Amino acid sequence: MGRGTIATWLKRAKLAALGTVAVLVLLAAILVWLWRDRPDLNNVAWPPPPTPGENSGTVTATWLGVTTLLFDDGETQILIDGFFSRPSLYDVLLDRPIDNDAPMVNYAMDEFRMRQLAAIIPVHSHYDHAMDIGAVARRSSASVLGSESSANIARGAGVIEDQVVVVVPGETYEFGNFRVRLLSSRHAPIGWRGSISFPGTIDEPLRMPEPVSAFREGGSYTVVIEHPEGTTIVQGSAAFNEGQLDDIDADVVMLGVGGVGTLGEEYVAQYWQHLVTSTGALAVYPIHFDDFTKPFGEIVPVPRFLGDFEETAGWLEALRDRWDQDTRLYVPKFGEPIALYEPPSPAT
Ligand SMILES: [Zn+2]
Repeated sequence: MGRGTIATWLKRAKLAALGTVAVLVLLAAILVWLWRDRPDLNNVAWPPPPTPGENSGTVTATWLGVTTLLFDDGETQILIDGFFSRPSLYDVLLDRPIDNDAPMVNYAMDEFRMRQLAAIIPVHSHYDHAMDIGAVARRSSASVLGSESSANIARGAGVIEDQVVVVVPGETYEFGNFRVRLLSSRHAPIGWRGSISFPGTIDEPLRMPEPVSAFREGGSYTVVIEHPEGTTIVQGSAAFNEGQLDDIDADVVMLGVGGVGTLGEEYVAQYWQHLVTSTGALAVYPIHFDDFTKPFGEIVPVPRFLGDFEETAGWLEALRDRWDQDTRLYVPKFGEPIALYEPPSPAT
């Protein structure tokens, strides 16, 4: 190779390298922009949820981010999911081992007075629902009620077998005045090309630290929580089984909307019909619209490209106006108890 050829080759290599760097910088800039482009919750102008007062019943639900909800009737508490440790975006993207954040679990249980916990019920076993169910169970006497996969998360955390209940779908479980049923449902098809991320089951006790990919879905449930004052359905993942709720009436639906913005208006219309129209619910609270890589207590909607909550809220409003004019829509506020039911009508 002559000196001239080497010089030309070096020049070309330099240009190629510069080009690659420029493309990478541009891609990074686009990613950062996409990640920061988020809807504004203030643009969803719905009335505030009803707060407990003289004219409300005793049953409250407190939303603690994603689909973690604390039900309480003053005597008995039921925790749907348990997700207080918040692994960072990088832990999730790089699939690094994650572990329970013990101080955060202690703080959440203390701050929200979880002293009468009777049951912990994860809607499925992905980490953003079930990561802390074992940690919470160990700090209480509550039963963990869920799939075999959820049972294995609890077992891996050292929860004693007396507290672990693998549910029979459709069966009724009583906790104080609450009657709970878990119906086999499906997970929203929001993975790559309509798949489900981290499918399958957890077949052995899951001992943390483990990466988020170790938390397999393990079966998804619709949770029906009956109480003498009323019935609430918690739908953690945005999917349904045809006809499953035909015989069920509800007052309130906690409607998981994670990722539905990417599934389209027609999907959401069917989802609404199955969960709200068919059950006759008069109050609907979208949940799972917040970015679960943020610290516990920080409510920020997910970036628009992962499902625009402002747009989804517009769809929900239109569906309500079309089919269920008497149904009210509310955005839950983090940590603030919601009065779920009107008082029982006075005896005449
Ligand atoms: Zn999930």
